[in-house]
Amino acid sequence: MSAPVTRFAPSPTGFLHLGHAHAALFAARAAGPGRFLLRMEDIDRGRCRPEFDAAILEDLAWLGLDWDGPVLRQSARAVAYRAALDRLDALGVLYPCFCTRGEIAAEINRAGAAPHGGPGPGLGDGPLYPGTCRGLSAAERQARMARSEGSALRLDAGKAAGLVGELAFSDRALGATVVAPLLLGDAVLGRKDIETSYHLSVVVDDAAQGISLVTRGADLFPSTHLHAVLQALLGLPTPEYHHHPLIEDGSGARLAKRDHAMTLRTLRESGRSPAQVRAMAGFPD
Ligand code: GLU
Repeated sequence: MSAPVTRFAPSPTGFLHLGHAHAALFAARAAGPGRFLLRMEDIDRGRCRPEFDAAILEDLAWLGLDWDGPVLRQSARAVAYRAALDRLDALGVLYPCFCTRGEIAAEINRAGAAPHGGPGPGLGDGPLYPGTCRGLSAAERQARMARSEGSALRLDAGKAAGLVGELAFSDRALGATVVAPLLLGDAVLGRKDIETSYHLSVVVDDAAQGISLVTRGADLFPSTHLHAVLQALLGLPTPEYHHHPLIEDGSGARLAKRDHAMTLRTLRESGRSPAQVRAMAGFPD
């Protein structure tokens, strides 16, 4: 077996903290003699900032990490995402969704307790989309497009499941997992505002970068089910995965981006050495 190609894929929406350091070191170590790549997941123009992008490069270098080749920035990849959406559209597995967040919430309330989907960046742990726009007629779709209401593009997960048949992916920690194609429901693949989404971009770019081993936090495990479906639909290889537990602070609280965990900058300014911070992030030399 050839040496793995891994990646660290931060979103430049803030400074790196210990949880990121853990993920980056994990990916770099997993590459071994293979290649460790860096990708900036900066599709969300409203939240990403060039100063965070620059700070991430600096912090990783300070930590002692050295990535192979140029940094891939998702903000430069719109053409590839468009091509993927076109391909999915040609398969008939996309539909436009005109719902606002408020309308979706109201529909879910009306329907009573709805099944819950797994987490994903920007998705939260909310209930699954109730499918309101899935059944719109072609005429209704056209009329609403013509009134230039913004629309997102959603995956018709049921249809996609029928097309791809039974799928599985392999996780280094958890073994073989049979894909549950409906786990995230009719996920948004093209957002109203940015015409792509985390799920679409990550699948397209892992393939474009030749990533053979995706290492990332266990919080993204549910997303991998959707990613395997998208890989099958798009004719892309499914890499091997290794979902690792998120590191915790001394009190057992998880060090996630959402929490105000210590940033590498703060640690550095308080006099910690790179080796000390690597150890705090779970990788003593
Ligand atoms: N950009 C995602 C994050 O910062 C990571 C995506 C991934 O590793 O697939 O949470």
